[in-house]
Amino acid sequence: MGGTVQQPIAHECRQCCAFCDRLVEPAGCIEAGCPYLYVYDDETGSRYMGCLNKVFRSEIDVALFEEAQKTRQGFGGVKMTGRPTSLCRVTVERAYRGEGEPFECVNPGFLDGPEPLDGLHSFDVRDRL
Ligand code: SF4
Ligand code: SF4
Repeated sequence: MGGTVQQPIAHECRQCCAFCDRLVEPAGCIEAGCPYLYVYDDETGSRYMGCLNKVFRSEIDVALFEEAQKTRQGFGGVKMTGRPTSLCRVTVERAYRGEGEPFECVNPGFLDGPEPLDGLHSFDVRDRL
């Protein structure tokens, strides 16, 4: 028992009017020195970064990221698409705020986030970087 098959994870909840989405903040990947973070330069010289673990699938323009990080708000988060590890900085974004029962959370487990994928304890290539 206890196999390694990964079930798809829902990273959005629409069970009340708040409409929540799970995000991951790339700034946390850098601060954690995560071994799953990759960076490459394309043929035009633009630099992109992404997650080998596909916790987020989008590739981020590093120049835009760095510009955004200089602002008070920072770059913020990108849509989560996979199971996070214990290093990922996970946040939940509420699309709507309001009063009364339609906005009362009926799925608090979603806000706690999914169980992290604990593959990092035996896999650490940071000493190669
Ligand atoms: S595994 Fe998590 S911390 Fe590491 S690069 Fe992916 S999203 Fe970032
Ligand atoms: S507040 Fe709770 S029930 Fe409502 S969308 Fe968010 S997680 Fe779902």
